[in-house]
Formats: sequence, structure tokens, C-alpha cells
Amino acid sequence: MNTQLLKPAKENIEAAAQILRDGGLVGMPTETVYGLAANALDADAVSSIFIAKGRPSDNPLIVHISRIEEIEKYGLVKEFSKTAKKLADAFWPGPLTIIMPKGESVPSVVTGGLDSVAVRLPSHKVARELIKAAGCPLAAPSANLSGSPSPTTAQHVFEDMNGRIPLIIDGGSSEVGLESTVITLCTETPTVLRPGKVTLEELSSVLGNVNLSDAVLEKLKEGEEAASPGMKYRHYAPKAKVYLVKSDDKKFIDFLNSKDNNSTAALCYNSDTEYLNVKSIPLGDKDDYDSQAHNLFSALRTADTLEGIDTVYVRCPKAQGLGMALFNRLIRAAGFEVITLE
Ligand code: AMP
Ligand code: MG
Repeated sequence: MNTQLLKPAKENIEAAAQILRDGGLVGMPTETVYGLAANALDADAVSSIFIAKGRPSDNPLIVHISRIEEIEKYGLVKEFSKTAKKLADAFWPGPLTIIMPKGESVPSVVTGGLDSVAVRLPSHKVARELIKAAGCPLAAPSANLSGSPSPTTAQHVFEDMNGRIPLIIDGGSSEVGLESTVITLCTETPTVLRPGKVTLEELSSVLGNVNLSDAVLEKLKEGEEAASPGMKYRHYAPKAKVYLVKSDDKKFIDFLNSKDNNSTAALCYNSDTEYLNVKSIPLGDKDDYDSQAHNLFSALRTADTLEGIDTVYVRCPKAQGLGMALFNRLIRAAGFEVITLE
């Protein structure tokens, strides 16, 4: 199969919509990361997402809509509760996924057999145009091969999906750069299962009490079940070994400069680069979590293109605000390996 990369011109969106209606897959730009989309109401089409990505079938997908009314129109949920509506009014369109009790029209392959469903209304104009043109909700996980860093450009999708899908719509680089915040309303107190651009603090200001799942910041214990199945897999990782480094500026630089500069790279702040003797990939300014989030996955992919590099050391963000989402992705990319320099 040849994979086409097309700009979001009207005729190309229509071609993509036709592929989706026919049960095929399309690489779709969103403001979080690129998605691998299929008609969410077509179980066979959704099954082919898992095959294209090599994704474990118990890891459920997010259903994307273009207008809030589509939740009821397509029968996606059992009940669109007052709490859900409050969240939707505050954060949609945008990078928040809401988990609600599943409606009967959603095939169980979408939810990995769970009786809840994850729904999001993206803010990316092209994503919404595509959903509208397709005339159905779109199930879409990130469009990477399972385990690798999520794609934030159409080129990243092409690297992973070339030959596996017919079409990628190129909508530019994803502004946020990290996957959506996931909150479930199926627990007594609403619970964040995955942090993202919409922060715990922002959610609390709308809902009051909000819990944070243990799996966000810590490794699951042996035999412990993940509330969000995706949290149990190694994820977001390049081929090189990643370590998260907790330290001040000087210790980070001294530590890196004591390493072999042929095989070591640093994912660091802009201000670090002039002092480092090893290859460095700057993520952004120290306190600019927006640009660090925007650049993170691209930087992890770049690390794998550097000749001879087998180990990558990364600056450890503070797990607060958007920093919590960065920490959550990095700690998984690092397989929970953290080096603390005292
Ligand atoms: P991705 O589509 O690759 O961004 O991953 C979607 C994330 O949402 C994964 O971590 C899933 O485990 C999680 N998710 C989706 N649906 C549900 C659900 N019904 N219950 C819990 N977690 C979910
Ligand atoms: Mg993913």
C-alpha cells in the first residue's frame, strides 16, 4: 500500500472522509498529537487500527467528535451527566478526554471491552472538518507504532505508518505536543488518569474535588490493575536508553560532561546547550513548559537519528501544572529510571 501525504485542501478532506466511510484508516492532525482515525461505529475498521499500530487490544481508544451534540446523536454514552457537560463547556473544543459510561452503539473493540467510553472534541480545525465530512465519530489513538513516541508532525506519522495506511492529512505540527488529559467520571470522585495540557488545577477549579490516579506519577505495583489500561505499557520511548535526571543546572552539566560524547546525548534546556560537551537537543527555556511539551516527542525521535547515540539523559521537570504531563511521559520513556544528583 502506498501512503499519501496530502495538505488539508477541501478535496483532500473529502477523499479522507470517503476512506473513513469505506472502513479505512487516515492519519489525522489534532492539537495534541496526530491520530490514527477510523469510523468509531465500525468494529472492523477499529480493529484494523490495533493491527496497524501493533497496539494491545485491551488498550481502549478515544472517540473524537466535532460538536457536543454528536454525543447524544450517535448514542456514545449512557448518560451525558451534568458534570460531563460542565467539563465540556469549560474545556471543549480542546485537549481534554472525558470517560463516561458507554452507550450501546459503541463497539466493544473501541473500549477494550470496558463498559466506559473516552470522548474528546478536538480544537484543531482540520480534525473537526474531517469528522464532520466523514459523518461519523472517529476512534483515534496516537498514530505511532505502539511503544514509540507519539507523532507531532505528518512526517512522524509517515515514518511509522508508511505502507500501513492509505492517507495522512498534513495539518502542520501539533501545537500542544502531548496527548490529551484523560479524566474519568466513572469513579465516585472524578479522577485524572493521564495528565495533559488541561491541568489538575484547572479541572479542580471547575469541578472542586478531583483525584489523581496513582499510575500517573508512579510505577504500578506487581499485579496491580491500571484504571487506564494504557498506563501499564512501556510508552513514548525512543530506541536509545533514557534516564531522567533530577539535579540543579551545574550538576546536570558536570554529570553529562563526564560521559562519553560519542554515545551520549542530553535533552535539556536552551540555556544548557552552550556548556555541554555531549550532543544536546534543547526542549525550550527552563520554565517554558509549553514549548518543552511541544518539542518533547520530536526531540525523542531526533535522538534516534543521531549516529552512535545509545543513551539519552533528560532534565526532570517539576510534576506540577503542565510539568506533570511532561513528567508522566518522560518517566515512562525512561522506564521509571531516575538519577538524582545530590
Ligand atoms: P491514546 O489514544 O494513544 O492517546 O491513548 C488513549 C488513552 O486513554 C490510553 O491511556 C487509554 O488507556 C485511555 N482510555 C481510553 N478509554 C478508556 C476507558 N474507557 N477507561 C480508561 N482509560 C481509557
Ligand atoms: Mg498513544
